[in-house]
Amino acid sequence: MAGDTDDDTDTERTPAEAFALFSHDLRVAILDALWAADRHALPYAELKRRVGERDSGKFNYHLSQLVGQFVGKDGDAYELLYPGHRVLDAIHSGVLHQSGGVAPVSLDADCRHCGTGLTFTLDGYIGHVGCLACDDTVMAFPFDPGGVSGRTDEAVAVAFDRRTRLFWRFAVAGVCPVCAGVISAGLTAETGPELDSHYATDHPVMLDIDCQQCSFYNYPPAAVVALYHPAVAGWLYDRGIDLRATRAWELDCVVDPTRTTVRSRDPWEIAVTVTTSSERLRATVDGTLSVTALERLPAEPDGHL
Ligand SMILES: [Zn+2]
Ligand SMILES: [Zn+2]
Repeated sequence: MAGDTDDDTDTERTPAEAFALFSHDLRVAILDALWAADRHALPYAELKRRVGERDSGKFNYHLSQLVGQFVGKDGDAYELLYPGHRVLDAIHSGVLHQSGGVAPVSLDADCRHCGTGLTFTLDGYIGHVGCLACDDTVMAFPFDPGGVSGRTDEAVAVAFDRRTRLFWRFAVAGVCPVCAGVISAGLTAETGPELDSHYATDHPVMLDIDCQQCSFYNYPPAAVVALYHPAVAGWLYDRGIDLRATRAWELDCVVDPTRTTVRSRDPWEIAVTVTTSSERLRATVDGTLSVTALERLPAEPDGHL
């Protein structure tokens, strides 16, 4: 029957060979047509019709190159397999062939140095929150160009916050959000010029996140670990601060480097002070990124937190 392929197409490929498979538009079109179909599956004739290729020999050849790893065959139907979905995901994230950007977005938070309102920018693939007046970075993280589509500039800033914080949370839990690999996560006080433009290097300590399998790495403010503890999230919630509805740049402990202090480097012990307008909660965090103690502190006599 037309479209039949031999089982020996389902063989191990090198990464370069797998990438080379998508050097032809027709193969991407086949994946797109299956993705758009009900249950991501189509009979041979309908798949051929939707792709719009009349040359059966050519269509069969390109389809055969995908069957096994990216497209499955069940009776007369061809279906998109998980690796096929991931190829489409990579394409639609935009990182392979697009570049994203939004106009600078004014945020509802001020620079701790000069009082200027903080700004979100997306230039290419890097979202950045900081002060344009004194060139200060609060947080920066990649944001895929596909995330700009269908959102206002303000909504892109919110999506950037949510996505970045979820990536950090995955990583602190030891699971790479990009490749599912093993993450090593710890504390570091090391900084360098190569980190200054992307990370809040004025903090005395940062998280050192590194995937053992893929290229994912990051240096988030260490204070975010305290926010993952349910007692800290609950303490804030009881005082009217819902972490789900609060952006990272609105949180004092994330923005202000003086809220994090290093007590010991060997072994690591740091203290993160989480604040509301009138109260303080201090979390002790160890080198395994566990919160080992929580302490409620009174406001200081001068009212300063
Ligand atoms: Zn500033
Ligand atoms: Zn990874």
